[in-house]
Amino acid sequence: MIDNVTGLVCVICGTAYPVEEAGYVCPDHGNEGILDVRYDYDLIGARISPESLREKRNPTMWRYKALLPVAPDAPVPPLTVGGTPTYDAPPLAEALGVGRVWVKDEGRQPTASLKDRASAMALVKARERGAEVVTTASTGNAAAALSGLSASVGQKNVIFVPETAPQAKIAQLLAYGSTVALVEGTYGDAFDLCMEAAEEFGWYNRNTGFNPYMTEGKKTAGLEILEQLDWEVPDAIFVSVGDGSIIGGVHKAVKDALALGWIDRAPRIYGIQSAGSDYLVQAFESGEDVLTKPPISADTVADSISADLPRDRIKAMAASVETDGAYLRVSDEEILAAVPSLARGSGVFAEPAGAAAYAGLVAAVETGLVGSEDRVVVLSTGSGLKDVASAMKAVADAGTKPMVVEPNLEALKNAMQERNQVPGTGTNKQGTR
Ligand SMILES: *Cc1c(COP(=O)(O)O)cnc(C)c1O
Ligand SMILES: [Zn+2]
Repeated sequence: MIDNVTGLVCVICGTAYPVEEAGYVCPDHGNEGILDVRYDYDLIGARISPESLREKRNPTMWRYKALLPVAPDAPVPPLTVGGTPTYDAPPLAEALGVGRVWVKDEGRQPTASLKDRASAMALVKARERGAEVVTTASTGNAAAALSGLSASVGQKNVIFVPETAPQAKIAQLLAYGSTVALVEGTYGDAFDLCMEAAEEFGWYNRNTGFNPYMTEGKKTAGLEILEQLDWEVPDAIFVSVGDGSIIGGVHKAVKDALALGWIDRAPRIYGIQSAGSDYLVQAFESGEDVLTKPPISADTVADSISADLPRDRIKAMAASVETDGAYLRVSDEEILAAVPSLARGSGVFAEPAGAAAYAGLVAAVETGLVGSEDRVVVLSTGSGLKDVASAMKAVADAGTKPMVVEPNLEALKNAMQERNQVPGTGTNKQGTR
């Protein structure tokens, strides 16, 4: 039995629905009426604390089960979801002139993006309901995540992705054995078709910014950041934003930890979007109400954050506004440049949407939003192996070329001399040229 949830509250009208009766959204507000899960923090505080967590051996997202909307004895998928490292990155801190930079590497998830946290939650909820089929639309990563997690428990699933999704993501879906619909259209088109099909066939619907439990799964990334920094709150967290569900999840983690007294202040949360998909930046700058602001036409190299109408925009806007953060836009060129910069300064190889968070940090330092004392976390949301074509473009744009050499030492020496690259001296001009 789920006894730690007090209700699900509509983000528009504030009506609370008991957990047993709540549908996906508020019936009075349709698909915009996203629900927010509310908890009994007294009960939870008696079950879990920073001290009890220190003793806990389970490194996965389920170490926070007492703080998730699932029954204490609910079975969870066997894949290791969560427990990703938060790396200290002194070279980045030095290059940027800020106090500390950490990079949380979500590329280390089972299907190589943060989306595994939400999809693992979806599987638990679907099985709680005895759903025969689960479904989602996705730009690619949520799909791969639902696909892989489903495979781990033998759950039937149907996946909708735009046909333009990167090959690696489509390969994952097909390898995991999902029923795959490549939609001839945008993510928005795939989303609408998936919603219709789920309704028509009675499938369990994992869609982002519709299923209220996805944010709760994603918040475990935020809880990990706080716990891995020993509850010493960072000054700022940088998150790339498409639908706005991840940033909403990070904010939820902060709100939970504040309510439980585990931290005493919130980090500033910065949402980063591509200039080609900047709905929330526009709204942040203009003060427009995201409930009525019409969709834009998104186009960006960072496919995972391409969204005409961010589905979770109400929670997403609150994340930055309520923590004194901001929404920032970065160009596709800056995003691509961030792929090798982040990789070279931290060892974390991110897909463009993951590196976008780092591009946002660079922009924030330039504009003075982040200062020399600030301790900053960059959430790297997905692996660079998800989109090798963009990575190759990024390194080419950065002027990085491999040496092509005949297989003899003389040829190698000549090639190295040509580029002024001497082994053992640490000189490597190709990165900065
Ligand atoms: C989904 C995704 C995002 C954006 O998350 P939203 O919840 O849609 O804002 C960012 N980066 C990667 C790698 C993703 O897969
Ligand atoms: Zn409502």
